Amino acid sequence: MDLSGKVALVTGSSRGIGRATALRLAAAGAAVALNATKDASETQTAIESAGGACSVHVADVADPEEATAMVQAVIERHGGLDFLINNAGVTRDTLALRMSDDDWRRVIDVNLTGTFNCTRAALKHMVRRRAGRIVNIGSVVGYRGNPGQANYTASKSGLIGMTRSIALEVGSRGVTANVITPGYIETDMTLEVAETSLNAVREMIPAGRLGTPEDVAEAVLFLCSDESAYITGQTLPVDGGLALV
Ligand code: NDP
Repeated sequence: MDLSGKVALVTGSSRGIGRATALRLAAAGAAVALNATKDASETQTAIESAGGACSVHVADVADPEEATAMVQAVIERHGGLDFLINNAGVTRDTLALRMSDDDWRRVIDVNLTGTFNCTRAALKHMVRRRAGRIVNIGSVVGYRGNPGQANYTASKSGLIGMTRSIALEVGSRGVTANVITPGYIETDMTLEVAETSLNAVREMIPAGRLGTPEDVAEAVLFLCSDESAYITGQTLPVDGGLALV
């Protein structure tokens, strides 16, 4: 799959799934705009030392002004935007009974509103050009539910409805919108999960292992490629079969 001449923005690409996705899209030939709230220079170094092209945009996707300005800056820097990968995400896990207003709000603001903020800004450009791909990173728990994650599961379920609505709105303008729902992927986010719980999860997964960031990156690549041009409004699990059990 050759993405030469294309431009991708991957939010939350300083580590984990976002980093692997940025590396994969760059390896396929795309120029990649990296984003995080602090720094994405490690990902930048990895892409550039492999001969790829990238830029770094520090911004909080939850802030509508910062998100809009970032998308504009990417378009100006690279001359366009073909793929928006809404990957930035956070957790603030606790039982609903104990969840603070701030824990609820921050997770919804980053995972759901942040995706909307970036998507709205990108669509203005994509619809005008009659081409573009939106790939949102949801989660298997968005439809399974998960104790201790009322905020996170609500944000990830919300992504599915939002993606379907956007797919309907822009389908006739050459723009597709899809959601990938990873299962348990080995990243900093799952490092917080106790080893005993992870072992229990591993036993449940039909594939018999946790996923890797690269497993998700390959699915993103497919949804950016010409080969997936007729797929929109869909939810693609990358979970080793976890959603089935
Ligand atoms: P990590 O915690 O490893 O990385 C999260 C990334 O998002 C970092 O680059 C972080 O950078 C960035 N980020 C966080 N908040 C913001 C913000 N407000 N604005 C911009 N960037 C931000 O997470 P994962 O790689 O594990 O997860 C990536 C996505 O995949 C998330 O949406 C997550 O919900 C989803 N997912 C993960 C699964 C897993 O098992 N790991 C399973 C299912 C879904 P910085 O800290 O500098 O802001």
